[in-house]
Order: sequence, then C-alpha cells, then structure tokens
Amino acid sequence: MNKKGIAALVFVLLSTGIYLISTQVDSSEFASSKKPKQKAAEIIMDTVEAIPVAPKLLFGIPADSFEVVESQIKRNENLSEILIPHNVSFAAIAELAKNSKEVFDVRRMAANKKITLFFDKDSTRKARYLVYEPNLTEYVVFNLHDSLGAKLHQKEVTVEEKTIYGTINSSLAESVAEAGGSPALTSLLVDVYAWQIDFFRIQKGDWYKVIYEEKSVEGETVGVGRILAVQFGHDGHEFQAFYFDQGSGTDYFDEEGNSLRKAFLKAPLNFTRISSRYSPRRFHPVQKRWKAHLGTDYAAPKGTPIRTVGDGVIVEAGYNGGNGNYVKVRHNGTYTTQYLHMSKIAQGIKSGTRVTQGQTIGYVGSTGLATGPHLCFRFWKNGKQVDALKVELPPSEPIDPKNLNAFEEVKAQYAQKLATIEFPPQPMELQAAL
Ligand SMILES: [Zn+2]
Repeated sequence: MNKKGIAALVFVLLSTGIYLISTQVDSSEFASSKKPKQKAAEIIMDTVEAIPVAPKLLFGIPADSFEVVESQIKRNENLSEILIPHNVSFAAIAELAKNSKEVFDVRRMAANKKITLFFDKDSTRKARYLVYEPNLTEYVVFNLHDSLGAKLHQKEVTVEEKTIYGTINSSLAESVAEAGGSPALTSLLVDVYAWQIDFFRIQKGDWYKVIYEEKSVEGETVGVGRILAVQFGHDGHEFQAFYFDQGSGTDYFDEEGNSLRKAFLKAPLNFTRISSRYSPRRFHPVQKRWKAHLGTDYAAPKGTPIRTVGDGVIVEAGYNGGNGNYVKVRHNGTYTTQYLHMSKIAQGIKSGTRVTQGQTIGYVGSTGLATGPHLCFRFWKNGKQVDALKVELPPSEPIDPKNLNAFEEVKAQYAQKLATIEFPPQPMELQAAL
C-alpha cells in the first residue's frame, strides 16, 4: 500500500472509532441531548482532518515505522551475536562498540537483560535500532544506521507517598516485610533512629507508622525514596521523626526540632552481646593476669562488618601482636575511637583515609590477643581513654530559629497524616468486644 493509501485507511479507522465513541456517549450519559447523529459525525470528521496523527514512540523511536521485537540476552551472547543475523556488518558493529564506549561499554551487556530490536518493515529486515535495558530505570539506544553510536536515557521515575505500619513480634525487618515493605525501607528506618533506638533490644509490642516515598517506573516499583515522617513506639517511649531540609543538608528532627543525629552511633556493629565492659581492672582471659580493660568487647560472628561510629580520618590501620588487625579513627579534636582483633581491615582503609559515619572499616575476627571472635572497641576523649557506653555525647544541630516556622508547617502536615493511620484492633481486643 502506498503512503496515500495508508493515510486514507488511518483516517477512515479513526473517524469510525471516534464516531462509535460519540454514539455511546450520546446514548448513555447525554440521553437528553437531542443532537442528530449524522450531524455529530460530520463535525467530528472535520475535526479529525485537522489533528495530525502522532507516531507511537517506544524509547523515543517512532515504533510504527518498524517491526519491533523484544527478547532477552542469552548466556554468553555478545553484541555481534545479537546483530550479525540481522544484516549489521561486523565493521559496523566494531564501529558502534567503539563509538558507544563513553556512554555504555557493550561488554557490560549481561545475560537475561531485555533488548528490543527495531527492524525495517521491508524484505531486508535490516536492524535499525537496538535498545538495551541494564536496569529498571535506564535504557541505552544503539543507533545501527547513520550515526552508529549510543545514547543512555533515564526512564521517568514516579515518586509516590506511601504509608506503612506494624507491630513488632520478632524483628523490625520481619514486621516491615509482613506489612509489605522492603529491606531497603527497614534499613532506612534503622538509620533514622540509629541514635535513639537500639534495634538489638527491640521489644515485642514495639510499633511504628511510617510515611515514605516509593519510586516506580512504568507502574513497577523500583525502590524507596526518602522516609518523610515516623512515629515509633519503643519501650514505653514514643519517638517521632520528621524529615526536614535546613538548607545545609537534610536531617530528621523530633517534635521539638532537635536533630535525631547524635555525634556517634550507639555501637560500631551488630553484636550478639557485650562480652566485657570497660574496667580499670579485670582478669585477662589470654594473659591470665589482672590488668585494666580500657575498651568494650562486643561478641559477634567472624566477618561481621565493623562500622566507624562517626565521620573522621583513619590515623592508624595495621597489625600488632596484641591488637591484631586494628584501625584507629580520629573524629575531631575531642574524640578518637579504635577497633581491634579484626579478621581483616576493609579495602581502602589506611592511614589518611577519610571515612563517614557507618562506613565499614573492617570485619570481626580474633587476631592478636583474643580467645574468640569479638570486637574490642576503644574510645578516647581529649586523649584519655573513657568508657564508650558512659560517655556523654553532644547532640547535633537543632532547627535554626529562622527555619522554625517552615519546620512547624511540615511537622503539622505529617503529624496529621500519621494520626490518620489507625491500627486495626488486636485479636484480644476483638474478643473482649464480643
Ligand atoms: Zn577488649
């Protein structure tokens, strides 16, 4: 069929479709309006003539002009194997790979990822575009004819506010999963309260309500955005958290506008128990003599990541007979911390490395003078060793008075939203009601 023929066909199809819609609308919703149908059709036909037919775009390519075939990359299949059967020369493929390098290295194409090929509709079936989707949010368009190059595109990400709530029976992660939340959401929630709630001492009956952002692409969830507000009931206390940007970075604040962030994390790792506390005098299990223990021992399985409790600079990272593999972090003029007996020091951690709070600096082990896998954590304040579990730490910056009105507005809005989340009655209460 020639171009004129296609245009005429499209025109007829469109007119008929719109005419049918207009008939339906007439008979159902606008039964009272007595528009003669013939007339309505004429008017619509006039309108259709004026509307240009927009091409259907797929990855920004006018899909109607091509034969489009979707598939997945097979195991060990590379770009040549994908394209050679579709009339793309080896020279063109080599040129394409070279030109695309800056945007996307074609050797990174992986098995099971989705690809979409656009072929000429004529008998040659020459491939004109290849679209590769490396993840849920991006796609690479390879132009296989004129420019022989690639362009990386971001898909449109939709952000939606969601709520989740639950009561904890065993662990926070389990409860969040039961309520339909992801592990990423749990970890964000733990971060919000890293300084308030010891998630290893979470109690049965603790509860939470969370307002957070969910990101989706083409209707499919691709991740969690920010947590915007939380109410957390723990150990008889209620902790509120509101996300707010003071202009110099974002943070979480309580209902009074105090930052939830304290200077240091409560513990440098997920530990099973504290096996030995700071003491000026204890019987050393390996040396079999009384000496001071100027640290806190956390028992944990070998390989457990050890995190720096605050931002800082590594001042020592190495090995000695007593400490085994150890790392020392200077946080500021006042505080320094040290981490001993590591099975290994994390990659890139050496004297002079800058680290951020929560960054993994090593892994639990039993190197040096140690009977079993544990972390010996030492804390210095103004050059003197102190008990990490007793040291009083300064809170970080509260809401600046000049931001107070804006903060109050955000807080009021989210406090109201949190209040509308209602827990369903517990089975016990239901029974009592019957
Ligand atoms: Zn120790």
